[in-house]
This record gives sequence, C-alpha cells and structure tokens, in this order.
Amino acid sequence: METIESQNKNNGDSANPSGMYFPYRIYCQGKPCTCEALYKVASRWSDGFAWEWKTYGLFCEACVLKGFARGLAHQKICAFARGENLDKPMILELSPGQPSIQMVRRVDLERLSETGQTQPGEVRS
Ligand SMILES: [Zn+2]
Repeated sequence: METIESQNKNNGDSANPSGMYFPYRIYCQGKPCTCEALYKVASRWSDGFAWEWKTYGLFCEACVLKGFARGLAHQKICAFARGENLDKPMILELSPGQPSIQMVRRVDLERLSETGQTQPGEVRS
C-alpha cells in the first residue's frame, strides 16, 4: 500500500512552491512600471472540494486599481466547468515573509476601483 506523504497541504511550516512567501523584493506588473509591488490582486478559485488563489498580478499603489479592474473584467468573461467557481477578485496587501492566509484584504481600495477611480488618492494605509 502506497501513501503520498508530501501532499500534506495543511502543514503550513514550509515555503509553498506556488509563491506563498515573498522573501525578496517583488516588482509591480503594471507595465512599464518598475515600482515595488505592494498589493496582490487575486480570486479564490474552487472546484467545490478545495480552493486555491488565482493570482491576476502584483501591483504598486499607483497601478493596483487598474490591475484590480483588469482582474474584475477577466473574472467576468471566464467560463467555468460545472462545479467550478471563481470568486470576485480581491486586493490583498503583500507582507514580505507572511503566508497568503495572513494577508490583509483592502476592501477600501476595491470600492474605489468600483467607483471608477484609477488612483488610490485619499486612501490611507
Ligand atoms: Zn506600478
């Protein structure tokens, strides 16, 4: 009888190969921006049994609302097989060295994007 020990997903004490940890600087993916990324835009994808983060991109403060709007548009046009589900994208604060599960969701920024803004403006972090 064979068992697969390495698929112990709930261990939580080692770096996840899907990029749960950010031990070094990461840069904004809003081209041609070269700022350091501070936020992640991601949705929770689920097939009804398990869920995982589907990441749209990593962005700096100036680009995050545009990146979020792109994520929203992408989520809307995605067609999914029966039983699969993709939640609305979220804006999450990147915290170097912290696992994704501890990331802070920035609903305030998400609302700004939904009202048509493209810059955080008065938002304080
Ligand atoms: Zn940027």
